[in-house]
Amino acid sequence: MSKVYMQEGQLVVPDQVTVPFIEGDGVGAEITPVCQKIVNEAVELAYQGRRSIEWKEVLAGGKAFEQTGEWLPEATMEAFREYLIGIKGPLTTPVGGGIRSLNVALRQSLDLYVCLRPVRWFKGVVSPVKEPQKVNMHIFRENTEDIYAGIEWEQGTPEAEKFFAFLRDEMGVTKVRFPETSSFGVKPVSVEGSKRLVRSAIQYALQHHLPSVTLVHKGNIMKFTEGGFKRWGYEVAEQEFGEYTFTMSQFDRLKKELGEESARACMADAVNKGKIVVKDCICDAFLQNTLLTPEDYSVIATLNLNGDYVSDQLAAMVGGIGIAPGANINYQTGHAIFEATHGTAPNIAGKNVVNPCSLLLSSVMLLEYIGWQEAAVRITAALEKAFGRGEATPDLARFMPNGQPMGTTEFGEKIVSLLVEA
Ligand code: NAD
Repeated sequence: MSKVYMQEGQLVVPDQVTVPFIEGDGVGAEITPVCQKIVNEAVELAYQGRRSIEWKEVLAGGKAFEQTGEWLPEATMEAFREYLIGIKGPLTTPVGGGIRSLNVALRQSLDLYVCLRPVRWFKGVVSPVKEPQKVNMHIFRENTEDIYAGIEWEQGTPEAEKFFAFLRDEMGVTKVRFPETSSFGVKPVSVEGSKRLVRSAIQYALQHHLPSVTLVHKGNIMKFTEGGFKRWGYEVAEQEFGEYTFTMSQFDRLKKELGEESARACMADAVNKGKIVVKDCICDAFLQNTLLTPEDYSVIATLNLNGDYVSDQLAAMVGGIGIAPGANINYQTGHAIFEATHGTAPNIAGKNVVNPCSLLLSSVMLLEYIGWQEAAVRITAALEKAFGRGEATPDLARFMPNGQPMGTTEFGEKIVSLLVEA
């Protein structure tokens, strides 16, 4: 049995595990083999042959289209369903045809409701912020709802006209400034969707001994959708994790009842006892605060659109697109797809200069997800060493004072050699 499976809410991982992978288009063919070699070596060093990964290629994107005439063959979906976990390189977005985005199709089909993006800084990597060592966040972006549901109508179409007529005639809406020329979009945000996302974020904070969870929202303007997300998030924290959390809504209640000093004392007591502080922040303020005081934030739980902006800003603060890993996860079923967060980079494809670290750090996330920490730690330590010495691909090395630009394969070999020392 080489498949990961779920038993009573827990992942069961065999020592010889099969992991389906999508090589990816463009630079995918360069980064995927480099990452697999590093991971294989790290697993071998950590477990001395007791554990291993068997990589099983499945097709998607341009390569799939060339070989099968389909962008996302059913066999690929079936492999992800069956093996629970998988990893993917970047995919070309098909132009025309039925599929809007392969990534969205994968996420929707497996109901991967968490987009997890850990953001940390590696010493040596040049950052636009003064104290990048203070950036250590874990973004939980809701992946299935919000304005990303794709429910929208273009201005001038009969559908947009009909939708506006419904708003005006049935709902008494009078606030559309230019109704004749407006496009319309719908933003669904549900209790279940919000709660399962926040629940996962709090569980993650507990498992990783992290100090806080911040609910990032625009509830000051969008009271029922984003405001609902905040309210339901606090409900999950208090009703399901009351023993382990202290929330800012509790703080506000205590402040009203007992005064600010006593409320602060209660919070300090909860923090001393190792409870997780659950707080909230309005998204625009959050984007400023993360630049000014990133140390105030640890786990972030947010809606889909906010999460998109937040992920990119935070990634830029620690070195940008070539080094930001990600995963799409359903913690209830265990399904998880780890992925390079950048695109196919056609402008540098085939030149042996692409940075493999986004996919490599996603592989590290995969190892952590299946509980193979000893292998994960080796890779992270090897990266720390390489970056500390200025050894990196050109996208990072060019900004390092001691930068030594390396080709993708050369960098991969360097990391393999550093694993032994780790
Ligand atoms: P891109 O991420 O491919 O490239 C943007 C810029 O970043 C380019 O200058 C590129 O050279 C650079 N870059 C990206 N990854 C890098 C890396 N690992 N190392 C060094 N430099 C790197 O975005 P794009 O050009 O807008 O999109 C190209 C194609 O990729 C499109 O078809 C798009 O739809 C697709 N795409 C796929 C994904 C995905 O599969 N997750 C994500 C984004 C874009």
